Amino acid sequence: MTGSQTLGVLVDVGSDGSIVLPSDMMTTAQITAGGQVEVLAQHGALIMRNASPPCELCGSLVDVQKVGTYYLCAADRTLLKSDL
Ligand SMILES: [Zn+2]
Repeated sequence: MTGSQTLGVLVDVGSDGSIVLPSDMMTTAQITAGGQVEVLAQHGALIMRNASPPCELCGSLVDVQKVGTYYLCAADRTLLKSDL
């Protein structure tokens, strides 16, 4: 197993169909609040992947925001501001 994988865990499905994902799995998948995920149902399983746009400079999926026409992570937004 590589460092980016985690073991499966059981989570409850709410009466409204909601599922709360374990925060460590969210962190591993670089899924953050305000982001998007793509969910596929396939052969009795749900497959979920991070669908947020990556930072266009470094590829990070963490805390990416649109600045003008570019998607940038927090670190690169800070670098961009310091160059102005
Ligand atoms: Zn970046």
